[in-house]
Order: sequence, then C-alpha cells, then structure tokens
Amino acid sequence: MGKESFNAFKMAQSQFDSVAGKLGLDEATRDLLRNPDREYHFNIPAKMDDGTVKVFRGFRVQHNDARGPCKGGIRFHPHETVDTVRALAMWMTWKCSVVDIPLGGGKGGVICDPHHLSQREQENICRGWVRQIANNVGPFQDVPAPDVMTSGQHMIWMLDEYERIHGGKFPGFITGKPLGVGGSLGRTEATGFGVVYVMREALKEMGINIKYTRASFQGFGNVSQYAIKLYKELGGKPVCVSCWDQADQKSYSFKKVEGIDPDELLKITDRFGGINKDKAKELGYEILPANAWIEQDVEVLVPAAIENQITAETAPKMHTNVKIIVEGANGPTTPEADEIIKKRNIFVIPDFLANAGGVTCSYFEQVQCNMNFFWPKDEVLSKLDQKMTDAYHKVSALARERKEYMRDAAYMIAIQRVAEACKLRGWV
Ligand code: NAD
Repeated sequence: MGKESFNAFKMAQSQFDSVAGKLGLDEATRDLLRNPDREYHFNIPAKMDDGTVKVFRGFRVQHNDARGPCKGGIRFHPHETVDTVRALAMWMTWKCSVVDIPLGGGKGGVICDPHHLSQREQENICRGWVRQIANNVGPFQDVPAPDVMTSGQHMIWMLDEYERIHGGKFPGFITGKPLGVGGSLGRTEATGFGVVYVMREALKEMGINIKYTRASFQGFGNVSQYAIKLYKELGGKPVCVSCWDQADQKSYSFKKVEGIDPDELLKITDRFGGINKDKAKELGYEILPANAWIEQDVEVLVPAAIENQITAETAPKMHTNVKIIVEGANGPTTPEADEIIKKRNIFVIPDFLANAGGVTCSYFEQVQCNMNFFWPKDEVLSKLDQKMTDAYHKVSALARERKEYMRDAAYMIAIQRVAEACKLRGWV
C-alpha cells in the first residue's frame, strides 16, 4: 500500500462531521454516513506476457446507496490506498446528491502502474477485477466508470467480462464507454460545459453580464478546453490559460489580452493538455510563469487542473477584480485559502457542484443504456444544463438564506438528502 502525506479519508470525515453538526444529525445517522456501507478488498491474479502470474490488489468501496446504485470510477495507480478510495467514494455520494441524481457513491481501484503493463496485461487485470466482484456490482447495484489511468477501453473489457459471467447484455453496468458500444454523446463536453452553466447562473445572480467578463483558467485538458469554448461562445473573454510542460517538468501560463482562441490553441496542444510554447509564441501569446494565471486582472478564475492550487500562498495574489471562482478541478482550494476568499468576499462554486456535469452525463449514459435508446447530443446537453442550473440555484438559495459559504451550503444540501433517504428506508 502506498504512503500519503495526508489522509484523504480523515479529511472527508472531518468535513462531514462539521456539516453534520450544522444539520443537527442524530448519532446513528452520523455513524452510518461517516463510514462506507461496504467495501471489498481482493486479489487479482493476472497472466503477464512472459507467462508468469502476478497478483494485484483490488478494491471497491460502496459508501452509500440509499438514493440509488453506487456510482464512481476505478483508478489504476501504483500508490492507491484504501483510505483514498474511501474518501473518493464518500465524495461521490455527496456529488450525486447535490445534483439530485438517483445514485449513491462508490469508488474502486487496483494498485498497479499501467505505464509498465501491456494492453493485454491491463485487459487481464480488468477482467480479473470483474470476476472477483461480479455479484456485488451491476446496473442496479453499483456502476463503475473510468478514472485516473483507466479509459473507455478498460470499461469495455470490464463490461465484456461482466456479460460473459451473467450471460446477457447489460450495457448499463458501466459508463464512460466509447460511442457505438453504449457511450453517450455529450460526455466529452459535459464537465467543462457544466462548469460554465453554473458560472453563467452565478454571474446572472450577481448582476454581471458575462459579455463584460474576462477569465483565467488553470489547465488545458478535457475540463478546461470545453469550459473555455462555451465561455467564449457565451461572450466572455478568456485571457489566460496555464498548463503543464512535460519537457521542462513545470507549468507555464499563456496570455493574450485580446482573448485566447481555444481552437487555435488546440492545434498546438498534445493529448495530455500541454501547449507547445514556441508555437504559442509565434501565435502572439505571452509565456508567463506557472502561477501567473491566478494573478490576472480578470473577474472569473477557473482552476481546472489539479488539487491544492489556491493556497495560503497563492490566494493573496488574486487580482482585486476577481469576483468569482468556479472550481473545475477536484480540491483546488485549501481550507486556509477558503478563509482568505471569504474575507475578500469572492464567490465560490465548489468543486463537487461545479464539476458534477461529468457524473450527471454518466448517469444519462446509464439511463440510455438501460432503455437501449440513445438521445441526440443537443438533448443530452440541454438535460445537463437543466440539472446543473437547478442544482446551482438550490445551493445558492440556501447559502443566501442561511448566510453560509457556498461550499458549506452545497454539503448541507447533499448530506441532508442522503440522511433523509436513509431515514425513509428505516436504516436509522
Ligand atoms: P486532463 O488530464 O485532461 O487535463 C489536465 C490539465 O491540467 C492539462 O492541461 C495539464 O497540462 C494541466 N496541468 C497539470 N498539472 C498542472 C499544473 N501543475 N499547473 C498547471 N496545469 C497543470 O484532466 P481533466 O479531465 O481536464 O481534469 C482536470 C481536473 O478536473 C482534475 O482535478 C479532475 O479530477 C477534475 N474532474 C474532471 C472530470 C472530467 O470529466 N474530466 C470530472 C470531474 C472532475
């Protein structure tokens, strides 16, 4: 099991404890929700290309399924720990709940490093994972999805093994599948567009016309590329974006005051979301240091790269014009930075609300698979817009009514809904 500098599960539990206190939850409900309902730890013997067998450790944590089948990704990582998987499963419960989709929270993983495994070896691990847990997951129990270092290909191998074991076609067992084998249109855009749907609603509430805003983004991967595209389509001016440079092993910010063009940048971006510096310079971009993205004179900041980026050190560097932070990434803001943001009265749309477009579209994929009827892209995206917009307004109304920080209000709504479902089922 890998080491970690901080324990994600302890952090998830302490966040839960503080909201449970505000909601006045009883002892039994707290005890139930601060721990997973179930977890499975198992060995996965997999045949290697050289003919030997290697045994990998696999997990699945089902945090809570009171509102519906568990939902959450499966990550392949050499430093995976059970506690990280437990925390991620709990956060999935709150994420599904805050956007009001009828799913609970789960997460899984395998301790392995795909960089050192052939495709055939990874396929053997995927099939082995399913064989160990085939009776405890499924379209009406627990629905996995891709996560760190797993893709649509891994999902198809897992689906195929599940269908062999159960003898039938069950495309709703797993999401994140490629188009044509049960995938949903709109999934690629879903998280980035979701970020902008909630940003649009917040700006409206704040009386700010999106057309007069400028924004700076961290990251130029799946989330950020589509967020920038839609933000620009709605009339906003994206002026800066940062990304990781694989060759230099550090990140840079790319700035154009007259507005960056995501289509132009995409042509010089690799598949990991790294922008070519030399070509960007030729296109008139200023190349600035890593943290320049956070210091820009903009109204909107969108951290959409990795965790722990808005910190006690970087938050004071935010420009005085910043009005709103929309968290595309998971966990981009530290608790110390939250205090600075509160003092400066900057509005925050928290990660598990802002980036819930992805899981919402995965839910749509599952629904379409269960019906064996697929919607056109416009229909998927308009249903997504409706879900994200409704979720945003419920959270912002509670934040206003109870004078709560948006992050706390989102947790209050999410946890309250799950607590109610547990009560209605007579579990507590
Ligand atoms: P991605 O791998 O497609 O892109 C990541 C981007 O971040 C790349 O442009 C990379 O260069 C950049 N980056 C990495 N380290 C950086 C650093 N130190 N400084 C600046 N840029 C850096 O990832 P993604 O799918 O866009 O996900 C981004 C974030 O959003 C992650 O936190 C992820 O967990 C979260 N998220 C993604 C989805 C989804 O559907 N893709 C859903 C929910 C949450």
